[in-house]
Amino acid sequence: MIRRLAILGSTGSIGTQALDVAARHADRFQVVALIAGHNRQRLFEQVRAFRPRLAGLAEFLKPEDIPEDLRFCDWVFGEEALCAAASCECDDVLVSVVGMRGLPSVLCAFEHHKRVLLANKEALVAGGHLVMEAAAREGEHSLLPVDSEHSAIFQCLQAAGGNPFTKIELTCSGGPFRACTREEIRAAVRSRALKHPNWVMGQKITIDSATLFNKALEMIEAKWLFSAAPEQIEVVIHPQSVIHSGVEFADGAILAQLGTPDMRLPILYAMSYPQRLPTGGAPLDLFALNGLTFERPDEKRFPSVRLSRECMQSGGAAGCILNAANETAVFHLLKVADEKEFPLGRVFDTVEETLQRVGSMPADTLEQVMEADALARRVARELIEKT
Ligand code: MG
Repeated sequence: MIRRLAILGSTGSIGTQALDVAARHADRFQVVALIAGHNRQRLFEQVRAFRPRLAGLAEFLKPEDIPEDLRFCDWVFGEEALCAAASCECDDVLVSVVGMRGLPSVLCAFEHHKRVLLANKEALVAGGHLVMEAAAREGEHSLLPVDSEHSAIFQCLQAAGGNPFTKIELTCSGGPFRACTREEIRAAVRSRALKHPNWVMGQKITIDSATLFNKALEMIEAKWLFSAAPEQIEVVIHPQSVIHSGVEFADGAILAQLGTPDMRLPILYAMSYPQRLPTGGAPLDLFALNGLTFERPDEKRFPSVRLSRECMQSGGAAGCILNAANETAVFHLLKVADEKEFPLGRVFDTVEETLQRVGSMPADTLEQVMEADALARRVARELIEKT
């Protein structure tokens, strides 16, 4: 049976790799909607190649800006584009947009009874309660994780025969500053942070990997996806990125998923679940590995992990506030003209201070989540501008 796929964020790293595996298995997947942010040239190429019924951009185009040969499909622009695709005639919605914008799209997809392949962790971090409630209404496996660690955990749980886990081992490469001192990390600038040792990813997530805020977000993501208590989630620094995460059971057994660091595996696993299909990537060569190592994260050098745990414990909108402050700080770091003005230490400080200033807020409705998000962004921006 062919599954009809809508991709939200098609020109990003996850979106392009999803198209790569969709093309490889054209007998199984039909791409019916493609939504991009601002990269119109790449979107045009994708529309030309995949011929979806719906295409769109976050920015607005004049009708004459759409190439003549691409006017066969419907075009949507602006804020509405994401929900238009999430509610179109399709089976699966891959949400791979960056940031909080993913949350309304995820809720919209569930409202229209789509299966959600989630590559946007911010939706869960900010509105986990809303997302999980909507997913529960749609039934089992209506929400499939694409994030490599969460896909690994999900895959391990598929093999658990219904046994509950006692602990989640959330692995983390440690990023480019794993071996640096606290001072070196705090002083590190954008260009250095953008060099990730193992994974090639979008810019925002690459910075998040350097600060370990990516792991901080993933801890909260895991809490929601797998109904885990904060103390059941253990972050393990594993620089080789071969073990993508694991789960521990009552008898002490740990099941883990191994593979080359290639996002096409978790993307395609979600797309073809419960079947496994070739990704086009080389399989893991165990003989080529030079040992696997594990370290405990140092929360003094990487306060992000501690902040995440504190947020999970305080509940409410804390995760949303952490995410909003981090997004605001990272977008500033990526755009600021002189990179020395905003080193990584400023990201940690902005998030910590924003959490302190905003305090506790409820997150029971989408309005409350949006309110906490907007307030946290405003506070974070003020903190960034003041110094
Ligand atoms: Mg991940």
